[in-house]
Amino acid sequence: MINTRKARKKREIRQAHKRINQTSKCKWCGKRYKKTHTAQKYCSTKCTTESKRERDRQWHNKHKRKYRKVGTTNIGQHAHKNEEIEKLIILKEKRRTGL
Ligand SMILES: [Zn+2]
Repeated sequence: MINTRKARKKREIRQAHKRINQTSKCKWCGKRYKKTHTAQKYCSTKCTTESKRERDRQWHNKHKRKYRKVGTTNIGQHAHKNEEIEKLIILKEKRRTGL
C-alpha cells in the first residue's frame, strides 16, 4: 500500500465513513444507536446534557474546597474607606486562598 499523506487521509475518511454506519454504544445510558457524525458519543441530546451535568458535578466536587474559601473571611460586603487598607485586605485574601 502506498503510504503518502494523501493516501493516508483518504483511508482515514473511508474508515470514518465505515464507523458512521456502525451502531455504537451510548456512553451515558449504554443503549445501542446509529451515529450521525463520527465524534458522537451519546445517543440523544438528553444523554449529552446529563453526562455534561455529571462531569460538571464531579469537577465541582474536586475543586469546591478551593472555591468555597473565596471572599468569606477577610473581604467584607463593602469596600474599606481607605484604599490602601482595602488593597491589603484583598492581598491577604488572595494569599490565604492561594489563587
Ligand atoms: Zn444514551
